[in-house]
Amino acid sequence: MTDVFTAPGRFWRGNLHTHSTLSDGVLAPAEVCRRYKAEGYDFIALTDHFIGLYGYPLADTVPFRDADFTTLLGAELHSGALENGDLWHILAVGLPADFSPPNAPHFRPVTGQESGPEIAARARAAGAYVAIAHPQWSALSMADAMSIEAAHAVEVYNHGCAMGADRPEGFHIAELMLTAGRRVHLIATDDAHFSEPDHFGGWVMVKAAENTPEALLAALKAGQFYASQGPELRGVTLDKRHVVVECSAVVAGVAMGRGNAAVARHGHSMTRIEIPRDRLDGSPWIRVSVIDAAGKRAWTNPIWIDG
Ligand SMILES: [Zn+2]
Ligand SMILES: [Zn+2]
Repeated sequence: MTDVFTAPGRFWRGNLHTHSTLSDGVLAPAEVCRRYKAEGYDFIALTDHFIGLYGYPLADTVPFRDADFTTLLGAELHSGALENGDLWHILAVGLPADFSPPNAPHFRPVTGQESGPEIAARARAAGAYVAIAHPQWSALSMADAMSIEAAHAVEVYNHGCAMGADRPEGFHIAELMLTAGRRVHLIATDDAHFSEPDHFGGWVMVKAAENTPEALLAALKAGQFYASQGPELRGVTLDKRHVVVECSAVVAGVAMGRGNAAVARHGHSMTRIEIPRDRLDGSPWIRVSVIDAAGKRAWTNPIWIDG
């Protein structure tokens, strides 16, 4: 994977998981887009619940694009049951406007509908960037997660699930997937419905030459991004003995690998952190997080040691 920090282009801030009045969100699509743009976002994906109850909405956000703001078409797909019997939630960003609905009449699985792995594969084949949504909120099993072979990414921080359920995370299952050899990316999203303080809390910073749907989607698929709640990441390099992190001012930097391998460095207003990597030797992947004085975090994608 090309190093996201030295790749050409610049970072564009985006939210990949958002709802509107087309499903169970509170605000109309135009107002959702207006608010994200006003808050300094460069793009969003409006991803309403793609179920029959709402008429299988695939929001047309093209009218809300302008010179400074763009949108990716998308939806939150639902079909098939998890091991616990609940319905799958799968994020698909970059869907074609004519993506065929599954047989998913409401928020409960029905017999004969596509499985989660099947609808995820169909979305990926149609060109979408596919992510396993809110693993902790859904109480996903490892078998559930591994079954979505089409997944590009796992939602490791979901701000709506943080605010509404105190179940924000997907790191545990994502790290188990990494250690099992699955090269998934790590995304942070809002899953905003604007029904509670569930917006502007987690995003991706995507490196691309231009802020167009095509360039952003290609960069997402290539893993050219990092996830954040606030801190900026400016560089992560590995030398023989250290992971060197450059970032906005933070109070902690942590490098992690498989199993219990993790090394933290703490300090004041740190913008360059050298984290010894000997504890991480032998891990096929390394990832980094930083934490600022307000407790906000940013997270890299996994860096695969064999390239
Ligand atoms: Zn969901
Ligand atoms: Zn959602």
